[in-house]
Amino acid sequence: MEFRKEEQAESNKGVTKKISMVQSFAMALASRGLTNKKINKATKQLRVLSCMGNRESGGILPPCDHLMDSETEGKKYCGACGCGDREGTWLIAEADKYSKLDYPKVACPLQMPGFTNYAPSRPDESEEPITRKYYIEQVDYSILERVNVVIGEEEEKKEEEETQTE
Ligand code: SF4
Repeated sequence: MEFRKEEQAESNKGVTKKISMVQSFAMALASRGLTNKKINKATKQLRVLSCMGNRESGGILPPCDHLMDSETEGKKYCGACGCGDREGTWLIAEADKYSKLDYPKVACPLQMPGFTNYAPSRPDESEEPITRKYYIEQVDYSILERVNVVIGEEEEKKEEEETQTE
């Protein structure tokens, strides 16, 4: 099956708008708050589908055009949001640590499903070749369920211990 090349969301064109995407990520950081608020599993599965596709779990959806390989082996990051390649911006499906996809509020430059700024596909996106966004919107729950995710948790206890030993 062929998928249409994604156009960048109108909202992310131009330098000023790129800065606003970084600000969105800052907002995501703020959304963690003082307690370790978590997103639900289905939301993370949608985000993983949006960024990484589902070929690794036997599906047909390719990764997002903006998914980049990190200089750190095995890690990925979003090349469109302007946040760069560092531990805090890695997109990790099965995270043992809190990663960007675990934040309750996080924006995607393409406004893809699962993200806080999600915007539904336009009517023409259902025409062949369809867009990835349209495909995800139509995806059967049984396909979504097969996307392997682990919700990353901050090691609050460890942090507490570290604080006590300081
Ligand atoms: S955050 Fe959005 S634009 Fe970036 S890799 Fe994921 S789906 Fe693509």
